[in-house]
Amino acid sequence: AKSEGKHRYRAYDPSMERGRELTKQLESDLHRAIGTDQIYVLFQPVVNAGDGRTIGVEALARWRHPDRGEISPDIFIPIAEKSGLIVALGRQILREACQHTRSTGLDLAVNLSPAQFWNDNLFEDITSILEETEFPTHRLELEITENYLLRRPEAAAQVLNRLRRIGIRVALDDFGTGYASVAYLKRFKMDKLKLDRSFVERIANDSEAASVASAMIALGQALNLNIAAEGVETEDQARALRIAGCTHLQGWLFGRPQASSTLMAEIPLSRRA
Ligand code: C2E
Ligand code: CA
Ligand code: CA
Ligand code: CA
Repeated sequence: AKSEGKHRYRAYDPSMERGRELTKQLESDLHRAIGTDQIYVLFQPVVNAGDGRTIGVEALARWRHPDRGEISPDIFIPIAEKSGLIVALGRQILREACQHTRSTGLDLAVNLSPAQFWNDNLFEDITSILEETEFPTHRLELEITENYLLRRPEAAAQVLNRLRRIGIRVALDDFGTGYASVAYLKRFKMDKLKLDRSFVERIANDSEAASVASAMIALGQALNLNIAAEGVETEDQARALRIAGCTHLQGWLFGRPQASSTLMAEIPLSRRA
């Protein structure tokens, strides 16, 4: 009983308390940031694995907090997700991303988190933003992650089909870190798999990791899917991924996330697809 008491006492952790306070503070700050230029979008190039031409960009959200400076999306996206703010935030990001890339002719990939995917207005929100920004439907790709579709598989398949029927493409992000199986990939129709960075990191110098990555890429090929690799930092990784059959490459080797104006100035027309 004594040791139990001790445990109970130890369970009070002042740093956890401070963490919760900070989260609450950031949530209310984020609430006020949405709709302002504290929130903005950077674009990372996606290249064709074959010829290295830039064929698209991934939009990545940024938050410049007035007092705290840049806050990582790994911090504020989960806060937005839990609080429901992600829906309004996601609309702002999609709108700005469409506006910035419309005239470039590049494909645009935008991340979609669970609360966005399951929001009843998802389809209407997306189609109205595409209309408002005059962004071509077939150039938009939504990136979703493996695990949340399985919560309600029937409904999830319907959401995906509705989007794909009008020409929006769907990519499975962080592929290899979740539950996706052959059955999963057959059930949920996708256009692309994005091999997670954790595989890419090891592909050039860990032969077991390289075989696993190759098997995953072969699976995608067998199902007729495009296969992208994210987090490509070295030429060795790019070579290994090309040989293994990736169709798209993305990572610091080809470009960091950057403002659309910088990105377009850096890609000569000849390097665009
Ligand atoms: P993600 O979708 O997997 O995005 C890839 C992350 O890897 C990005 O981090 C990107 O900046 C980073 N990255 C790209 N190339 C390299 C590389 O060569 N090496 C390394 N080490 N990292 C690389 P970022 O921008 O910090 O975003 C983190 C996560 O936050 C994203 O992971 C995504 O899950 C989420 N996120 C970002 N923007 C949005 C958004 O607009 N909406 C939603 N729902 N989630 C977002
Ligand atoms: Ca992504
Ligand atoms: Ca990813
Ligand atoms: Ca990731």
